Amino acid sequence: MTTRSSDIQTADATYVLQTYRRAPVVFERGEGSWLYDVDGNAWLDLLSGIGVASLGHAHPRLAAALAEQASALLHTSNLYHHPLQSALAARLTAISGLARAFVCNSGTEAVEACLKFARRYWHTRGRTERTDFVAFEHAFHGRTCGSLSVTWDEHYRTPFQPLVPGVTFVSPDDPDALETAVTSSTAAIIVEPIQGEGGVRPISNALAEAIRDARARTGVLVIADEIQCGLGRTGCYFHSHTLGLAPDLMALGKALGGGMPVGAALLSQDVASAVAAGDHGTTYGGNLLACRAALVFVEELVDGGLLEHVGEAGRHLERGLLRLQQRHPAIQDIRGAGLMRGLQLDRDAAPVIEAALARKLLVNRTATTVVRLLPPMNISIGDLDEGLDRLDGAFTDALGETADVIRSNAAQSR
Ligand code: PLP
Repeated sequence: MTTRSSDIQTADATYVLQTYRRAPVVFERGEGSWLYDVDGNAWLDLLSGIGVASLGHAHPRLAAALAEQASALLHTSNLYHHPLQSALAARLTAISGLARAFVCNSGTEAVEACLKFARRYWHTRGRTERTDFVAFEHAFHGRTCGSLSVTWDEHYRTPFQPLVPGVTFVSPDDPDALETAVTSSTAAIIVEPIQGEGGVRPISNALAEAIRDARARTGVLVIADEIQCGLGRTGCYFHSHTLGLAPDLMALGKALGGGMPVGAALLSQDVASAVAAGDHGTTYGGNLLACRAALVFVEELVDGGLLEHVGEAGRHLERGLLRLQQRHPAIQDIRGAGLMRGLQLDRDAAPVIEAALARKLLVNRTATTVVRLLPPMNISIGDLDEGLDRLDGAFTDALGETADVIRSNAAQSR
């Protein structure tokens, strides 16, 4: 490690609030699926800043659009019109089938907005008792007080209690439990179609059906948190559509800005009609720079062939991961879809992540025993293959010989 790298890490340790455990590397530039540290090393990025750098790093069109926008106009506030917010809203409503968009700055803000709009919907209907939420075990919806209230992990919640009251958590493996959990006081069910932080766990068709039944029975609203799994990441625009969920509200973030902080809450016309001027707002949300970035991303996704590429690259990645599973018996299951994948291990995944870092490969651990991959959505097949090779090496470094070697050694000793 150079002096420069260690100086930067020392400054971080001295001045920055220590809410993160960072890996000991300092990045200063990127290109496509590659990051370069201050010591000049190249790292292959199969995590894309937790699903954010959706177009990879230093994407030429995104970079040019941002530079052009920065020299024209960055921000005017939501007191005035500009052309880009409505353009973005039009594109998001077109691909989601929802009617309106509220543009904000992050995933957690998108979730906060959805929770508020759900309550507003019932309030407008004079059903002021319908304030509660049903969420799922292992769910992660963000760190601000509202979204934390529907986030499951006690570790995140306990130091900040009391949170928003009236939240019931249901096991995603127990769809029948929704029958008693959703009552005449429930405003909305909030669900990640594929739980991300919870270990890349897709919800089952049975749970999707139980959610639809609960809606038919009680009129409860459905909020799909598509922040991690949405916007093409799984090879379709929204994973909730694949499950036939037809949500009333959707929370978006991460991939949307390609690295710029942008989130959005999408609403059905019914819910949107209940929201009045002044009910919600944000100073920065939907400013020109953020919307310009999001428009570039959506154009690439819809018009530029990115969605099709994710489908193809996702199938390639799945085949590669299945081969990896045959070689490394510690991999018990491969979950997810498209370019959102989790390898369920029979043990703590930390040593594999460490070994991957040693091979200059970025993946991360979630839910303790899962290796998560969220590569840039435009990653090339060649870079995916390089990543799979490095991951194979990392498994061997961390966990020992592969099943192939063990089998061939056993055959030789017979
Ligand atoms: N919802 C989901 C499904 C997420 O994965 C995340 C972040 O990981 C969030 C919400 C919160 O998003 P943000 O960190 O942008 O606030």
